[in-house]
Amino acid sequence: MANKRAIKRGSPTSVVAVFPGSFDPLTNGHVDIIDRSVTIFGRVVVGVLNNASKSSLFTDQERVELIKRQVASYRGRVTVVSFSGLLVDFVKRVDSRVVIRGLRAISDFDYEAEMALINRKLSPDVETFFLAAREENSYISSTVVKQVALLGGDVSDMVPPVVERALRQKWKAKQSESRRTAR
Ligand code: ADP
Repeated sequence: MANKRAIKRGSPTSVVAVFPGSFDPLTNGHVDIIDRSVTIFGRVVVGVLNNASKSSLFTDQERVELIKRQVASYRGRVTVVSFSGLLVDFVKRVDSRVVIRGLRAISDFDYEAEMALINRKLSPDVETFFLAAREENSYISSTVVKQVALLGGDVSDMVPPVVERALRQKWKAKQSESRRTAR
């Protein structure tokens, strides 16, 4: 009886899953992966990669802050942490052994499979789980979102409102910057 209750559909387990990425910025695709991971694993740590060599639109702190605002309603079941260095080391630091990655298309697969294999080589205990993107999110990437938003396009269907507002501010800042340099 107790077992039956434990495996009841939708009942969260207590496994901590790590969802790592650049999140520059968070998109509806990411949000969907977080939502679904919480349902399956119960607790999710969003690991925001602080990659000094990759030039990002949003600073490390801004990316963390935007995700924190978006996941506030989970009341502690989703935490957001910035990290640098090896993913497997970060996963162990937060007492996890599960990595979540989203797959949009076959084109994502080669890179993702390679990373999963490397991570298994570095740490055989760490398992990578892939969640297929929802069809409506499969064309969304942070790169496309940035390109459209910085040209003044509408990205309201691609990102949560908190990110849309932040992108509008970046666009305005970029416009005043180009006006200043044109003088
Ligand atoms: P990274 O630089 O590590 O790929 P991203 O922020 O681009 O960081 O992506 C983080 C994770 O989210 C990756 O697993 C990626 O495949 C997944 N992802 C990105 N966009 C989407 C989307 N539209 N739908 C589902 N998953 C996505």
